[in-house]
Amino acid sequence: MEEALRSIPQVSGIIEKLRGSYPYPVIKKAVREVVERVRADIISGKRSSAEGIYEEVEEKIKELLSPRLKKVINATGVVINTNLGRAPLHPDALEHVREVSVGYSNLEYDLLRRRRGSRNSHVEEILKELTGAESALIVNNNAGAVFLILSALAKGKEVIISRGELVEIGGSFRIPDIMSSSGARLREVGTTNRTRIEDYERAIGEDTALLMKVHKSNFYMVGFAEEVSLEELSSLGKRYGIPTYYDAGSGLLLPLKGLGEPSFGEILRKGIDVVSGSGDKLLGGPQAGIVLGRKEIVETLKKNPLFRVLRVDKMTIAALEKTLLLYMEGREKEIPVLRMLLQKEETIRNRAMRLRRMLAGIEGLKASVVKDTAKPGGGSLPWLELPTYCVSLLHERMSAQTLWERLIYSKPPVIGRVRKDRLLLDMRTVMKGELVFIKKALSEVCRAKRS
Ligand SMILES: *Cc1c(COP(=O)(O)O)cnc(C)c1O
Repeated sequence: MEEALRSIPQVSGIIEKLRGSYPYPVIKKAVREVVERVRADIISGKRSSAEGIYEEVEEKIKELLSPRLKKVINATGVVINTNLGRAPLHPDALEHVREVSVGYSNLEYDLLRRRRGSRNSHVEEILKELTGAESALIVNNNAGAVFLILSALAKGKEVIISRGELVEIGGSFRIPDIMSSSGARLREVGTTNRTRIEDYERAIGEDTALLMKVHKSNFYMVGFAEEVSLEELSSLGKRYGIPTYYDAGSGLLLPLKGLGEPSFGEILRKGIDVVSGSGDKLLGGPQAGIVLGRKEIVETLKKNPLFRVLRVDKMTIAALEKTLLLYMEGREKEIPVLRMLLQKEETIRNRAMRLRRMLAGIEGLKASVVKDTAKPGGGSLPWLELPTYCVSLLHERMSAQTLWERLIYSKPPVIGRVRKDRLLLDMRTVMKGELVFIKKALSEVCRAKRS
């Protein structure tokens, strides 16, 4: 061991050798880290010499100079996967982002009237057109929209909401917490499983500012359960002159058969005064919070200082605008999220068969095609299970868990799901052009194991 430790080159020597090829501070950091690791590995008996240390340092330097945020291949079957970046953008949306972001744009300049314009105006008209809303605005995300609406319409006042809808969406978004931070007071009514319109009505008082309903998003209730419909809530609001708000969560821009979910337009036509939803869930665009509703309410929101705090960047506006235009053009089925949700079983099966054929030559690996179910994910359509096809992998000497881990270290990482002793690669969320990367990753992982 002594000898092995002595074989580690001097830190200053390694630095000197690489000097000029890379930025100095990066070399220093990489050398320190690698030398430390090699030393620890020798002491713990994991390696017996410092051989290959120069290559390791260079690899470390390259790692330090490359982005941490990177492309991954989603073979989990979860279409709207928050951990994996939610909605993939349509290439046209991305092209629009590039075009207006690489140089200057009319973000806040009204070219027709030659005076200051509003960044929201680019998407407002399209949103109004697509949903029939009187007014629209966008903010950073739907959590921001909920916060803005509660704060602007109900600060210091009461918001009536069902106990069955005090939900946690995940990642620290809890309705009661958002409510208290916004300064609005929660007035919960009904019970966990049943809330009736009379429960809301009895709670209405002088301090009531808003009647709110929240999409449960990531769970659903069966059995002895009852909730108030949007129509009932809106007519109660109208009777008492209190605005109604629906946090639709995912939000569908257009009615889509088979998803069992009302679109923004349908929600508004039921008489709800203001509705909000995410830009990067079922809508299939960039992260954004979309607010639609009656003009005077949206105007109140726009005047609130939080609207400025939550404003979106030009890249978001560009990506959203182009995504919305795809809906206008009737090309919404090309939007990746919708395409993946609506694609035919046969298309997925063909992709699975194709990948299985591509993997045929890899030693030690057995691949077969299996039918399974995929989830939309992202807190949308929790009841919906979509039939899907997976390539099921079994390796002679590697467990499914090990295979799963190794694939995550591939470039790009491939993320599947382990089911019992198999690794499943779900073809619903894998794009056509990604199959070659999966093949390459698996070839490397299986080859490395052999040596
Ligand atoms: C997802 C979701 C949110 C949060 O939306 P983000 O766009 O992620 O901020 C809020 N409310 C509901 C009901 C949701 O499903």
